[in-house]
Amino acid sequence: MFYNSTQNASEVVSAAQAIAQGISKDGGLFVPQEFPRYDEATFRALLQTDYKGRAKKVFSDFLTDFTEEEIDECVEKAYTAAKFGGDNPAPMAYTQLGDTKLNILELWHGPTCAFKDMALQILPHLLTKSLKKTYDGKNAVILVATSGDTGKAALEGFKDVEHTKIIVFYPVDGVSPMQKHQMNTQEGENVTVCAIKGNFDDAQTGVKKIFTTPAIAEKLAENNMLFSSANSINWGRLLPQIVYYISAYCDMVNDGKLAFGDKINVVVPTGNFGNILASYYASLMSLPVAKFICASNANNVLTDFINTGVYDKNRQFYTTMSPSMDILVSSNLERLLYKLSGNSDATTREWMTALKSVGKYEVSDEVKAVMNEKFYGGFCDDKQTQDTISRLFRQEGYLCDTHTAVAVNVYEQYVAKTGDDTPAVIASTASPYKFSKSVLQAVAPDAALPETEFDMVDMLNDLTKMPVPAPLASLKDKKARFSDVTAVDDMPQYVLSALNIG
Ligand SMILES: *Cc1c(COP(=O)(O)O)cnc(C)c1O
Repeated sequence: MFYNSTQNASEVVSAAQAIAQGISKDGGLFVPQEFPRYDEATFRALLQTDYKGRAKKVFSDFLTDFTEEEIDECVEKAYTAAKFGGDNPAPMAYTQLGDTKLNILELWHGPTCAFKDMALQILPHLLTKSLKKTYDGKNAVILVATSGDTGKAALEGFKDVEHTKIIVFYPVDGVSPMQKHQMNTQEGENVTVCAIKGNFDDAQTGVKKIFTTPAIAEKLAENNMLFSSANSINWGRLLPQIVYYISAYCDMVNDGKLAFGDKINVVVPTGNFGNILASYYASLMSLPVAKFICASNANNVLTDFINTGVYDKNRQFYTTMSPSMDILVSSNLERLLYKLSGNSDATTREWMTALKSVGKYEVSDEVKAVMNEKFYGGFCDDKQTQDTISRLFRQEGYLCDTHTAVAVNVYEQYVAKTGDDTPAVIASTASPYKFSKSVLQAVAPDAALPETEFDMVDMLNDLTKMPVPAPLASLKDKKARFSDVTAVDDMPQYVLSALNIG
């Protein structure tokens, strides 16, 4: 199987190249040229196996330049019971809210308690193997600018992975105390964590500048190193996400919640559009999905786009209690647009160029009609988010985080509006303990908040009796290893020193 750029269809690469390179030279994203279609026998075979078995099947169909042994090794190293707290890294929970049934796909049982672990636990293994195939013998240097979740998930994924080094920059006042402590206590011989005096945009701009400075690239090359990216547009982050939708369907059939062949809807709390796109890609492989319900918070640029066909990022940015969805440019949407435009690189390029220059583009009525057949967009604000957490906990004893609550709320709105009773799989993207303060305020609005994040975790645990995930519980006693703070202008020198080459 080969991949081409969404902005230049004649730019064709192998899977290993797509993963090693991250983004195409023309600025486009790599997409598979076709999708394998699974027939009934294939699905029935997947029912009989476990998560790892399902992952191996999907990976082998997309990574045709990897050997079976290589894929086995990647999957076995990534989805261990030790790292994911059990044999199924993405288990289902069944509950309901009023008469509305909720089939919740819990994607947060990994080492950092957010769904990004599902991809970032395996990406380092895919990447080192891809580099070996394309740039044999080089060591990869991963630079990450993070507003919180991605940095920690990338650190955990790359820690002590051979032939890699990872350096994470975060805004000194721009992450939660829990996120800061998660990163500064990171273990591993090949990891470095540094705060920068600036905001997330400064961190991101600083990293991009380092990536594109020829003198730095040369210095790395002299030392047998090269830069690589763990960012969410890398095909190696998207592919692992296809697996859990297929696996959820299999689990629901095996649990007697669906008859084989029944249609489902999918509901996803959306930021960069990676997670929901993975479910759409699963449907192109024959997973029977009727509707994709795209849930946003107050930053409802995607809701407006799905409803009007106009994508317009020129609007106020809101800081919400579901921060991982506070995004105005959803980069993976480009891959959906490419598909909806009939794989037109010219049209995709036109829209993306307009987005860059004027922050806005409009798709044709035809494309909008195709999109609306499959996609529904909705949003809710922070008050509705907290109300949803509270009702779900009071009525059913099920505790969810703020991002998941946005999805549940938008799903309730969808059902009220359409009466559609197709069973829905709701992606749950973080442990409630990762956002203890907002969750605590939702379930105990009148209680006085304790001072530290760890006391909030304890209080939430007392109130709900829901177990605290081991990786968060153990954090309390860990000592910080990293305390560096650097000016944005000093980031290049910081990187060279951290790599011992300047
Ligand atoms: C990253 C993230 C999202 C958004 O996912 P996308 O794939 O970017 O749409 C939602 N919830 C949580 C908790 C996240 O960390």
